[in-house]
Amino acid sequence: MASVQSIALISVHGDPAIEIGKEEAGGQNVYVRHVGEALADLGWRVDMLTRKTHPNQADVVQHSANCRTIRLTAGPESFIHRDLIFDYLPEFVQAVQQHQRDSGYDYRLIHTNYWLSAWVGMQLRRRQPLVQLHTHHSLGSVKYRTVQDIPTIAQTRLATEKHCIETADCVIATSPQEVEDMRRVTSLGNLKIIPCGTDVERFGSISKQEARVRLGISPEQKRLFYVGRFDSRKGIETLIRAAARSQFRDDPNFQVVIGGGARAGHKDGDERDRLMALTEDLGIADFVKFPGRIDDDLMSAYYAAADVCVVPSHYEPFGLVAIEAMACGTPLVASAVGGLQYSMIHEETGLLVPAKDDAAFAAACDRILANPDWRNQLGEAARQRVLDEFSWQGVAEHLSQVYEGLLEETAIPA
Ligand code: UDP
Repeated sequence: MASVQSIALISVHGDPAIEIGKEEAGGQNVYVRHVGEALADLGWRVDMLTRKTHPNQADVVQHSANCRTIRLTAGPESFIHRDLIFDYLPEFVQAVQQHQRDSGYDYRLIHTNYWLSAWVGMQLRRRQPLVQLHTHHSLGSVKYRTVQDIPTIAQTRLATEKHCIETADCVIATSPQEVEDMRRVTSLGNLKIIPCGTDVERFGSISKQEARVRLGISPEQKRLFYVGRFDSRKGIETLIRAAARSQFRDDPNFQVVIGGGARAGHKDGDERDRLMALTEDLGIADFVKFPGRIDDDLMSAYYAAADVCVVPSHYEPFGLVAIEAMACGTPLVASAVGGLQYSMIHEETGLLVPAKDDAAFAAACDRILANPDWRNQLGEAARQRVLDEFSWQGVAEHLSQVYEGLLEETAIPA
């Protein structure tokens, strides 16, 4: 890069500096943080702007010399569910403007994440010359087809997403399926496909045997693994119902592990409680374990120790968990939805089955559990696919080229 360029990655509800697996933090937080850090390695000066959710949180977290998270106050300094944040966005816009005045420079380039940040970005563009890129992470038009409880904010979200697709300088789709989804919303807009990435050194650092020793799991165990947020669109219920139908149900070595944090009294805690109750009702609570949030330093061991990583989402724009498991050499059984159809190859890196079809999930998991040699073969192909296609460094290089091209095209003065 000729000179140091600044970029603001805006992620109102997905704090890139927070512990992942907590407070409904998931793929978006991981994406913003890794993209930010990798861009800084390429020479960008990166500010990641998010909403402060606790008075004790640091206002600034420095990740590396040129990469920091900045927490801005907009509304109460407490956790607010994403469906209820919209009312505080005008305050967030003001806070970004104030931050620019305080720090003495104006951003020329912003990359917004999720529709809440898209709205913020569009407001800022009315106030200052700005190139805006956007990544959805989830599209209302698809998500609302898969859920029963449509929130009151839905119309605002749908309108914001359409407007953003049509007016942003570029919208980054993370898979060809996401392009199709956006094209059903509007035929306008500049779309580019750049997938999500993963840390191929961290994920893949431990063999299955070592991982089992580390976690104290016997070599004979037949282990299915899910990790992620407790959100009904993740389809965890399908996994539980599939486990109840498995041919291995009565095998003492069969174990299903459902990892991820959840807080009592919040939406995710309610979902976890509902699912735990379901395992009791189905009489399978003794072999379905809920270990809670999985520590970062154990995550790759959990993936590697599993025979199959199950991603039963009803909707998944990309699905970081899928490529993390693949990077660890663990095959997937995943819903044939969204980006999962792109990141994994059916019968080569795992099996794709219809979403919500617990009989199909049971049959697919059983097929892999019954054949360890084939499991290993699928796992090796899975790791290779991630090495070839999905590293953060590659993602950041691709993004960087798009940013530079847009800055040049739009010629916004420095
Ligand atoms: N994650 C984690 N610890 C947990 C649960 C989840 O670190 O206990 C991480 C997981 O490794 C992945 C992310 O959260 O990087 C989930 O991303 P994904 O795209 O699969 O789902 P999303 O949260 O975007 O729906």
